[in-house]
Amino acid sequence: LREATAPFPQAEMFALRDAGFTSVFEQLVSCILSIRTRDEVSGPAARRLFDVARRPEEIAVLSVEAITERIEPVAFAFGKAAQIREIARRTAEEFGGELPADFGVLTSLKGVGPKCANLTLGVARGVAAVAVDVDVHRVTNRWGYVAAPTPETTMVALEAKLPKEYWVEINERLVPFGKHICTGRLPKCSTCPLLSMCQQVDVTEHR
Ligand code: SF4
Repeated sequence: LREATAPFPQAEMFALRDAGFTSVFEQLVSCILSIRTRDEVSGPAARRLFDVARRPEEIAVLSVEAITERIEPVAFAFGKAAQIREIARRTAEEFGGELPADFGVLTSLKGVGPKCANLTLGVARGVAAVAVDVDVHRVTNRWGYVAAPTPETTMVALEAKLPKEYWVEINERLVPFGKHICTGRLPKCSTCPLLSMCQQVDVTEHR
């Protein structure tokens, strides 16, 4: 997997981390922006927002409209802007400006589900947590490594089966792998380096 995904751009949250956006707050905002939005759109949107305001107390005083302007054209830009502003306000007021690396706290924030909480904890703090998005869900089920109907149940299955040392890396690898090789439609099975170990579950057509 490492070799197969080496030629492709990093998943955006990992790229942002490597560019210095390492706080729990910054990573959580990046994850919210990426929901239903391609990395090529959400990454630049995060950078445009952080260009004018990076700290929670700076974002909390922006208007929802001003945040929306910075993050468009991500999906649901206005709703996400309102969410981000509210998270910034709570972070500034309740946590002294530093969002704690705590799953319970993160999922208590409006609009933050287990995937974003785990991805944030994993990327920002190296906390072992499996973040299952559509790519991780699709690919691990096609492999036959897990058999789970939803991303949430795939997360539970992976946490039971996958060695902990790979819990963060699996997302980092499978996002580009799912985007460029094991694509939703017509996966590139004929040239896939993992073909010999893949059960191709529910793959009816491929390239
Ligand atoms: S062989 Fe096909 S289904 Fe299996 S991982 Fe590769 S691209 Fe995906």
